[in-house]
Parts: sequence; structure tokens; C-alpha cells
Amino acid sequence: MKVAIVGAGVMGCTTAIVLAQRGADVVVLERAVPGAEASSAAAGILGAQVELHGRSDSVALFVRARDAWREWAGALRDASGCDVGHRVTGVLRIARSEADASDLEREVQWQRARGLRASLLDAGEARKVEPELAQELVAAAHFPDDAQVDPPALLRALIVALSRTPRATVRPGATVEGLIVERDRCVGVKLGDMDLRADATVLAAGSWSSLVPGLPPGLPQVRPVRGQMVLLDERPPRVRSIVFGAGGYVVPRGDGRVLCGSTMERAGFRKEVTAAGVHAILACALACVPSLGAAQVAGMWSNFRPHAEGESALVGSSSLPGLFLATGHHRNGILLAKVTADAVASAVLGPA
Ligand SMILES: Cc1cc2nc3c(=O)[nH]c(=O)nc-3n(C[C@H](O)[C@H](O)[C@H](O)COP(=O)(O)OP(=O)(O)OC[C@H]3O[C@@H](n4cnc5c(N)ncnc54)[C@H](O)[C@@H]3O)c2cc1C
Repeated sequence: MKVAIVGAGVMGCTTAIVLAQRGADVVVLERAVPGAEASSAAAGILGAQVELHGRSDSVALFVRARDAWREWAGALRDASGCDVGHRVTGVLRIARSEADASDLEREVQWQRARGLRASLLDAGEARKVEPELAQELVAAAHFPDDAQVDPPALLRALIVALSRTPRATVRPGATVEGLIVERDRCVGVKLGDMDLRADATVLAAGSWSSLVPGLPPGLPQVRPVRGQMVLLDERPPRVRSIVFGAGGYVVPRGDGRVLCGSTMERAGFRKEVTAAGVHAILACALACVPSLGAAQVAGMWSNFRPHAEGESALVGSSSLPGLFLATGHHRNGILLAKVTADAVASAVLGPA
């Protein structure tokens, strides 16, 4: 079985590894640099619980996705020699008003009723978990099992692991210019003046997925949602937990790097870091953890979350035989990468 994958982000690379492990011959086609788009720009929060917001339909998938990371992070380290920075640091979502605290209390009760670990902490209890939290705190929801990975390290590990996988190849600089469709079936992809034929083709082109010519009609559009990030360098490191505030978050890596994010903007493919974006991100970060005001600004970037209109993601078979989907994961593509890869591999090859 020969499989062509369009896009070498976290979706394309993870799916390639799982397919190759299951015996497929896989080629990953990347128009630019493998791993250099949304997947490396992400904060890497495995926020199964903090991202739920009362959505019953996502509970089982999100928790399974987060829990799969324990084993997958170790497997990637063994396969690549690279540590992907998997740490169970927990998440605190803070409330600065009584109304926000009531919302958090409802969410905590709702999650506990589903067997998840979550608690509502008063200001003093929250500061025992994270001493650097702001004084103006009313309460915080604590999700101790939520975790993180370090996306640039993850993408390096995936690409090294792929380069050591005999049945897999990554081709940088290979722009897929369209699908080849014969007798109502996708039989490969067009690369410039060359055709690459495959038994199965996986669309994993992130925010650019809907721009690939030849997609079946009716497939939901995938559109970019820009997210800006600011990296701080705090020496010595003091913040320990991931902290969510109103409209943003702070993600300490444990070594002094602290990622602060992020905006959610419909800005097309304008990959800019804006004054307003940085202002909003730092205002939220410092409102959560005031001591970060003394940290050095070490970097800024932006990239595009792939948002599938009307869907939480596009995963598995499509209406066009031979074409499979691994795209549109919006805010949770890192969290969902391994479970998506498993689902796509089962759709292509049958259940494991
Ligand atoms: C600022 C920010 C913060 C985020 N934080 C988190 C987080 O904390 N936790 C989390 O789970 N998720 C997070 N996300 C979301 C997550 O990053 C994405 O959902 C995920 O990375 C999408 O992966 P992907 O492989 O689909 O897309 P990408 O990583 O964008 O990869 C798509 C690849 O396809 C290639 N490509 C496109 N068109 C073609 C073509 N025609 N031919 C060949 N190659 C092509 C592109 O060059 C690109 O390399 C965040 C995203 C952003 C932007």
C-alpha cells in the first residue's frame, strides 16, 4: 500500500509514522520546510480539560488524546533521541470576578460528574499551587492532569523519527498542485509536471487544505485563524503551572522560557505580529502573573490555526474514495495529533 500525505505538520508527520509502522509505504510532501508552520508555532498545551467548556461530545476524545501522549512521547524519544518536553504541569484557569468564579464552579462540577479530576480553589489555595499568581484573584479552577509538550522539539523529533523509518520519506519543497482523480477516485497527487500515484492520499495541509485543487464538493472549508505568541525568558524560572486568564494563557516550560498567547484573528494568511496583538497578550499574561513584567522578551511569532467551518476537525475517509483527511484541528491539533493519526491509519488500512 502506497500512501501520499500532503503537508508535513504535526498531522502529516504523525500519520506517516503510524502508517509506516503498520506496513504502508509513505511519502510526505511538504511545499516548504517540514514542521515550520502552525505545528511549531503552537503553545503545546495538552488542554483536554481546560479546552472542554462543557462540550460533552469532546470529553472522551480529548481525555484519550491527552492520555495517549504519555506513551507517545516516550516512543518518539526512543525513535528519535529527542525529548519532546512532555510534562504534566496542570492548568489553572483564574477568575477575577464572582461571576467568572461561578462559571468556573459550574465547569468544575460538570467535569467531576464525568469522573475527571478538577477542583475550584479559593485565592489562597490557588497561590499554594502557583505562588506567582496575581493578588486580584477571586478563584481558580485547577485541572491537575492537563499537560504540555514543546512543539518545536516535537516537530524535530517527528522529522528525525521519520528519517529513521525505512518505509517513510519526507520530501521538502514538494508542492502538491492538485489531486489526480480518475473514475471518481483519488489516485495520487500532481507535483509540477510530475504525477505521484498512490493507493491512498491523506490531506494534512493545515490552513491551506482547502486550496488544494481537486477536493470533493461539499467538503467544509478550512480557514486560517491567526494566533500570535510572545516568548519571555524568566531567570531564574519562577512560574510552574500553565495559567489561563481572560483571553490568554501563560505556559512555563520549566527552564525559564514562558510562552504567552494568544490572539484569535481572521486575518487571512497575513503572518504578522501586531502591536495590538502583543499588547493584548502581554496585558493578559501580566494580569495573571505580574512578576513576568521583569522577564526579557525573547521572541514573537504568529501562525494559522486550521479551522474547519462547522466541524471540530476533518478526520478519516472523505466522500472521494482514495482521499483521507487529517486537518482542521484549530486550537487542539497538538493534543489530537496521535489519536488522529491512529484514526486515519485505521481508515486507510483497516482497524489495527
Ligand atoms: C499560536 C498558536 C498556538 C497554538 N497552541 C496550541 C496548543 O497549545 N495546543 C494544541 O493542541 N494546539 C495548538 N495550536 C493548534 C495547532 O498548532 C494546530 O492545530 C496544528 O499544528 C495543525 O497541524 P497541521 O499539521 O494540520 O498544520 P501545519 O502545522 O500548518 O502543517 C501543514 C503543512 O502543510 C504544508 N502544505 C500546505 N499546502 C501544501 C501543499 N499544497 N503541498 C505541500 N505541502 C503543503 C504547509 O507548508 C505546512 O507545513 C496552536 C496554533 C497556533 C497558531
